[in-house]
Amino acid sequence: MNKLGFGFMRLPLTDPDDQTSIDIPRTEEMVDAFFQAGFTYCDTAWMYHKFMSEPTVGKVVVSRYPRDRFTIASKMPVFMIHSHEEGVQTFEAQKQKLGVEYFDYYLMHNMEYENYEKAKEYDMLSFLQEKKDAGEIRRLGFSCHDTADFLDKVLTECPYFEFVQLQINYLDWESDDVQSRKCYEVCMKHGKPVIVMEPVKGGTLANVPDPVRELLHSVHPDWSPASWALRFAASLPGVEIVLSGMSTLDQVRENVGFMKDMEPLTEEELKVLERAAAMIKGNIAVPCTGCRYCVEENTCPMNLSIPRYFALYNLARLHEESGAADEKAQYEEIVAQGFGRASECIGCRSCEAVCPQHILISERMQEASEALEG
Ligand code: SF4
Ligand code: SF4
Repeated sequence: MNKLGFGFMRLPLTDPDDQTSIDIPRTEEMVDAFFQAGFTYCDTAWMYHKFMSEPTVGKVVVSRYPRDRFTIASKMPVFMIHSHEEGVQTFEAQKQKLGVEYFDYYLMHNMEYENYEKAKEYDMLSFLQEKKDAGEIRRLGFSCHDTADFLDKVLTECPYFEFVQLQINYLDWESDDVQSRKCYEVCMKHGKPVIVMEPVKGGTLANVPDPVRELLHSVHPDWSPASWALRFAASLPGVEIVLSGMSTLDQVRENVGFMKDMEPLTEEELKVLERAAAMIKGNIAVPCTGCRYCVEENTCPMNLSIPRYFALYNLARLHEESGAADEKAQYEEIVAQGFGRASECIGCRSCEAVCPQHILISERMQEASEALEG
């Protein structure tokens, strides 16, 4: 099976400040290149691109290709529903937005303690099993950003889940917060295949610091840093699909080029990535993946553009010796668009409740304000 999956959450935009302004002609070109190379897996979700990802998949994939040419994965946004009926309506609305009669893969989105309890309270787990029995879901799974112990508990209590979507990348592999390796091992213990999300950690492993780039280049001059990251995830036994949130046609072409018939990394190559991870950890200020949950599932009372501020803060840290002038200028441009300043964060912490990376956003925002405003 070709292991590359197309994540429809970082699509090209006609207006960079409007997540709904998806560039349909460019997205169609990307989809065509992806399918022509023999890949089929398309991953979307209810709230990606401010609820426009699913209709876009309907437009650029479902309405343009025969049903047996693609596989669709979408997710139940249990964190956004307030009753069983709302969950049922959401499921039906997703089928309509996509234009499909069934999902090839369907997931409970972001299964963590509160969402798991909510799914049980609203009887959504039985509902999804009924949909599977009725043929409207071919494979039922869930995505998880929680601990390995919690994952073990869910898989023990709900053995009917057939796969798990996990955040796996070489930077988080031994992380105490993300627990990539431990979660992966729990899935293997339960015999559940894994779909990998965030293999490039929201772009962090594509834009590595110069010394890391030089290290990787010295081993394989023709491999990009992003391709090292995708290869790491795809090399793991039991991994079925590695998702890539592709934004350009060049990214699609590069990814399909090396992911087709890819050889797993060797022991020596894995050791290189261990060294790279240690070097990157010393440089990253905030492990933000840019998933946007903090601005799309949460309303910041001060209207801070949280992921963009953290992305600039991370870059500013890399360039602090030269004054980080570019990052400071870009930051002022964002503020000029009407967003609140990082220093205006009131520490309400509502954003932290939805951050899958468990970032103490209010504390880190103060650091970001010093780096970008100081
Ligand atoms: S803690 Fe700060 S950034 Fe987060 S929602 Fe509150 S004001 Fe916004
Ligand atoms: S701060 Fe957390 S929720 Fe917000 S974009 Fe970054 S990783 Fe996602």
